[in-house]
Amino acid sequence: MTDRYVLFGNPVAHSLSPGVHAAFAAQTGQDLRYDRHWVPLGEFARAAAEFFAGGGRGGNVTVPFKEDAFRFAGRLSARARRAGAVNTLALESDGQVLGDNTDGIGLVRDLTANLGWVIAGRRVLVLGAGGAARGVLAPLLAEQPAQLLIANRTVDKAEHLAQEFADLGRVAAGGFADLAGVEPFDLVINATSASLVGALPPLPEGLLAAGANAYDMMYGAEPTLFLNWAQGQGAGALADGLGMLVEQAAEAFSIWRGVRPETRPVIAKVRRDLVAQSAQ
Ligand code: NDP
Repeated sequence: MTDRYVLFGNPVAHSLSPGVHAAFAAQTGQDLRYDRHWVPLGEFARAAAEFFAGGGRGGNVTVPFKEDAFRFAGRLSARARRAGAVNTLALESDGQVLGDNTDGIGLVRDLTANLGWVIAGRRVLVLGAGGAARGVLAPLLAEQPAQLLIANRTVDKAEHLAQEFADLGRVAAGGFADLAGVEPFDLVINATSASLVGALPPLPEGLLAAGANAYDMMYGAEPTLFLNWAQGQGAGALADGLGMLVEQAAEAFSIWRGVRPETRPVIAKVRRDLVAQSAQ
């Protein structure tokens, strides 16, 4: 029988995840289907319980339900507990639902394995202190950057995060205004949702060290506003979050199916689809 997986979210209509998982399933010969599951606000627990009671095997979770999924899961992985959020649910053999978080490992794999960027010993700036930033801090710190600074519009959110993750490495926090005159960074990661609304955090000149790398977790057919800004500031390499999307999906897929798909051809395919879609 074909196993069923879904993406729980609101909105979910434009998600690329069904195409990514369909490509993984074809590549690895797995018999599964993966659909979007739009859930009304406030109804995550009911929808998830219904899905698993009806024979569903697992799911991904996106905005705004990652914390609801954290509360829903009967069992949590160490990285989900650390992130305080769940983006992957998997039915286990004893009937319990495991909650995991694959966003952070997805980002780090894209940065290091796909892009060949170095984090160890580098000065890293994370813009934003929302769910995405929280999910990636532990895996980033595990790479042992020389320093990780979190800058956010709402400064106390960044400060709380820095305190929470201080046991894992050298992590500091501030607001965007505090970035003026700071020693330049080797890697700047935009984990704000500003690009979604065509906005850019107010960033000072001179933030990027010579040849620095810039990464925007948001992705699209065109470079984001943040990536254009970074290019103008002399960044050495730029990337958007499409690779992270595919890598977090690959990690979820291997939790569910016990096989790890190859991601590079899928990243290339999804990129082509995205560009073709935007040209229509
Ligand atoms: P949240 O809503 O949890 O957090 C949003 C963050 O963006 C907050 O830090 C917020 O600051 C900041 N922000 C919002 N608007 C602005 C603005 N105009 N100027 C400056 N800062 C702003 O969102 P998530 O953390 O879940 O998502 C963040 C981004 O990451 C999104 O673009 C999302 O699409 C992307 N993402 C990509 C993934 C991938 O696989 N590629 C996976 C997960 C997320 P404040 O705290 O002050 O409100």
